Amino acid sequence: MPLQLTRPELMCSENFIDGQWRAAVAGARYDVSDPASGAVFASVPDSGAADAADAANAAAAAFGPWRDRSARERAQLIKRWHALILANADDLARLISREQGKPLAEARGEVLYGASYVEWFAEEAVRTYGDMIPEPVRGKKLMVVKEPVGVVAAITPWNFPLAMIARKIAPALAAGCTVVAKPAEDTPLTALALVRLADDAGIPAGVINLVTASRAQTPQVVGAWLADARVRKITFTGSTAVGKSLARDSAATLKKLSLELGGNAPFIVFDDADLDAAVDGLMVSKFRNGGQTCVSPNRVYVQRAVYDAFAAKLVARVAALKVGPASDPASQIGPMINRRALDKIVEHIADALDRGGALLTGGERLHPAGAAGDTFFAPTIVGNAHHAMQLAHEETFGPVVALFPFDDEAQVIALANDTPFGLAAYFYARDIARVWRVADRLETGIVGINEGALAAEVAPFGGVKESGYGREGSRYGLDDYMHTKYLCMGGLT
Ligand code: NAD
Repeated sequence: MPLQLTRPELMCSENFIDGQWRAAVAGARYDVSDPASGAVFASVPDSGAADAADAANAAAAAFGPWRDRSARERAQLIKRWHALILANADDLARLISREQGKPLAEARGEVLYGASYVEWFAEEAVRTYGDMIPEPVRGKKLMVVKEPVGVVAAITPWNFPLAMIARKIAPALAAGCTVVAKPAEDTPLTALALVRLADDAGIPAGVINLVTASRAQTPQVVGAWLADARVRKITFTGSTAVGKSLARDSAATLKKLSLELGGNAPFIVFDDADLDAAVDGLMVSKFRNGGQTCVSPNRVYVQRAVYDAFAAKLVARVAALKVGPASDPASQIGPMINRRALDKIVEHIADALDRGGALLTGGERLHPAGAAGDTFFAPTIVGNAHHAMQLAHEETFGPVVALFPFDDEAQVIALANDTPFGLAAYFYARDIARVWRVADRLETGIVGINEGALAAEVAPFGGVKESGYGREGSRYGLDDYMHTKYLCMGGLT
């Protein structure tokens, strides 16, 4: 089915550098396909180091004038961008669904979610306050001011093609930084549409530059930015392996880093929990984007006394989920992003069943009507899971729930923390002393307590341990794009 947009010009197919739409210097392109059908429906530049350098040159040249605008002027431009995102929400949602696969209603939700960060940072732009420090000796004044770090390189994943890039570019611009960006190879079109809207909003040439590249070419593009001393910060969301390589390779120029990496979220149901609320929370947190979400629960620990009751309620809900292409309005779970993703799910389930897991529902590939692709998978529950299974240690990133029975609080906290990752954790309990004990002991950046929907522009999003560092959103989010500068004025006696 051809992609129909109200504003066809939002379907952009070139790099955006210094306010112009440009082909890659080498002229190369790569195809973008619909994960629901496998059909190619667009192509974009397959950029290289020369394109990355052009983008960095433009961002470096634009930095001084952008930094020197008043915070209010920057805020007004970002607000205009926000208004255009909302005005074009339906087209943006169609682009997200087509290139990423999520159902249209969910894609609309992503547009609003991403836009909320743009609005938030437009409002925060005027609040980058400094400080006065009481002087230790008479005759001096000690001040602290915040300054933008400079050119920021933003690299984003495919699972939220709009929200991930919006929540990097918006704070960078609010702080007074300029941006070079590279979206995930599978989902470049939403990001390109977003920069067209930024251009329409009047954000000056060179302030946002975006280049697209295939996975093979990505190291050339990102490598050029890593080597460029003018790029002062990398903000990355994606896998832990790539995040670690960026930390290593940016050491030569000691760039500031924000790394939002992989997770392996525990979800704990204690025997005093409201089981219906826990099932609701798990459905929301687990099945958003078909489980392809970094804060998706990967390990669900259920206390033995309520294990059977919880499993029965969950099976009924999961078995009723409708899997299908985004083009079917009834779809609740879309395709996985590609074959690689599907193969990992199949491998994790096979390993779990080999090691004594019980298949409670799902477990097979699906071929829903109206979808030619082979990337659909049935929402699945594996019971009797334990820590010798692969899915206890690796992010499955799909619609698979693994249920681990447990006996007591100390044991489940040890199991929950038995991972190098530390992004999100969830638990359901009603004993107030237990609630505080468990919240204190979970080693993650985010904890959901009797709640499955956590992310909001007003709250700090980010991890600990090998889930990375830095925070997106909230009043803490701007700090990642700013330096703290100390000014000391003497001779005042
Ligand atoms: P990925 O690391 O493969 O890709 C992310 C980005 O890095 C893409 O733009 C990709 O092109 C780029 N990239 C790939 N190889 C690179 C290289 N050698 N050098 C530089 N850049 C490179 O991750 P993915 O599979 O697209 O995304 C899924 C992962 O992202 C999951 O682990 C998920 O948990 C994580 N994620 C984390 C958050 C968070 O906020 N913590 C949010 C969403 C996704």
